[in-house]
Amino acid sequence: MTLVDQEWVVILNPFAGKKKATKHKEKIFKLLEKYKISFKPFFTEHVGHGIDLTKKLIEEGHRKIIGIGGDGTMNEIVNGIFNQQVVSPSEIAFAFIPVGSGNDWVRTVGIPHDYEGAIKTIKTGSFFLHDVGKVTYQTNEGRKSRYFANIAGLAYDAFVVQRVNKKKSSNYKMTVFTSLLKYKPQVVKLILDDKEVLNEIIFSAAIGHGRFNGKAMMQLPDAMPDDGVFDLTVYHNPTKMQVIKNTNKLYDGSFVKLPFISQHTAHKIRIESENAVYVETDGEELGHTPVDIEMITRSLKIISGIKNKVV
Ligand SMILES: [Mg+2]
Repeated sequence: MTLVDQEWVVILNPFAGKKKATKHKEKIFKLLEKYKISFKPFFTEHVGHGIDLTKKLIEEGHRKIIGIGGDGTMNEIVNGIFNQQVVSPSEIAFAFIPVGSGNDWVRTVGIPHDYEGAIKTIKTGSFFLHDVGKVTYQTNEGRKSRYFANIAGLAYDAFVVQRVNKKKSSNYKMTVFTSLLKYKPQVVKLILDDKEVLNEIIFSAAIGHGRFNGKAMMQLPDAMPDDGVFDLTVYHNPTKMQVIKNTNKLYDGSFVKLPFISQHTAHKIRIESENAVYVETDGEELGHTPVDIEMITRSLKIISGIKNKVV
């Protein structure tokens, strides 16, 4: 059986988008049938289950995966693809139907937000080799690693994610605001490609392949998901009033021109600090400094509306 003939496995996170994925499940499955996409559905049962399920399905011989959920679901499937030892990750075809509350990753890779549009992309879209990052961080149980295809957030960004995940039902924008009042920026040493570029108080940083996180905030306006480099946006030490006043500029990327912002690119990143500074990726809180981030160039084969650019 060739990859073309093989049926897809669907990994659906029933909790995605405040259970929208459960509510819309039949509708999405009917659309898949309408476009003659043959599939077998699987459902995640708890946080982290998407990683084990993806790994198991690949070990059983499946090579075509459709994820249905939000950025967290996408991240778990990517981690399953990279944690299995059976085949090279780029041998897995990965398609995605966004049903989350943020859906930030699909904004960069040209997967439509509507179900039918996303399914048409599966049917007609081209393969695209996407860069993946591996972030290694400190926890109470030692060093751990996590892969990511969108954005890793450091400092304030991770503080917000910790607080959002603790109070699941609360208003996101309000949590961002109350977190701001509570957050205390720390001194951070940033080493890019073995060169120290700063050692000072920073408020926040975004590092990644995609352009959007935090529900449509364009934190990395110049990022390309297949150019083999991470984009970084560093928020130096703005006053809290400056952050509040400029929030709207996050949505069109124009905040990068503000005097307390710097933009960088790198293949390899090391972050150190005296006091623990936390890192998150795709809305999942991880651990803290020291943090190392490595690039795995064009290693994830996704189906999207865009084609790889020729380098
Ligand atoms: Mg890039």
